[in-house]
Amino acid sequence: MILLDRVTKTYNKNLGPALDRISLHVEPKEFVIVVGQSGAGKSTLLKLLTREERPTSGKIIVGGIDYDKLHDRDIPLLRRKIGTVFQDFKLLPNRTVFENVAFALEIVGVSTKEIKNTVPKVLDIVNLKDKADRMPQELSGGERQRVAIARAIVRQPKILIADEPTGNLDPKHAWDVIKVLEKINRYGTTVLLTTHNQEIVNKLKRRVVTIKHGQIASDRANAEYNVK
Ligand code: ADP
Repeated sequence: MILLDRVTKTYNKNLGPALDRISLHVEPKEFVIVVGQSGAGKSTLLKLLTREERPTSGKIIVGGIDYDKLHDRDIPLLRRKIGTVFQDFKLLPNRTVFENVAFALEIVGVSTKEIKNTVPKVLDIVNLKDKADRMPQELSGGERQRVAIARAIVRQPKILIADEPTGNLDPKHAWDVIKVLEKINRYGTTVLLTTHNQEIVNKLKRRVVTIKHGQIASDRANAEYNVK
């Protein structure tokens, strides 16, 4: 489902590669945690998958799409396959929770009827059904992040990339977000999570890929994580 074969990304030749011949295979429905110190190359890896950045060399195939053969006109198809959430929630401040999630469907021409049908179901998945009419500033950070997750999954992507989604949250709200990611994974979505939170990594007991200086330093199932 996600395949990287000896992928290198060099932003600046004088500084050496941000990612150095990374090979990684992620099966459908896996839950993979990517860890590593700041500057290790985690965001670069995720940006290559979302096509925000292009590799300097190496092969990337996601959901049957070979990135070497990807045209600009295919990018919307890719965006459909991959949902993204980030540390900052990037919600529209002047729209309600419902409208924030609905917006992801409006921009691709989904009918009002279908939007009214779909959005409450997705808000239910992220445990925010009763907050549909609230504005983002009326919500806690954890609730805002769950709105962002609802927006990311409303078009039913095969893969959800969550880049430090708990970075701005206190432990309780962080867990609410992680539990939602686990639920989405149980429903069949591949989840790629980056986090610096050692406790989350250790409790989740999932596959952990550790990136160090642009290379995969370890790749372990059911792993715990020791920051060194
Ligand atoms: P992480 O997400 O693990 O903190 P990054 O992927 O952001 O790491 O960064 C990996 C390396 O690539 C770092 O040395 C960083 O300075 C460099 N880098 C990241 N993005 C750019 C960019 N757009 N231009 C130049 N260098 C970059």
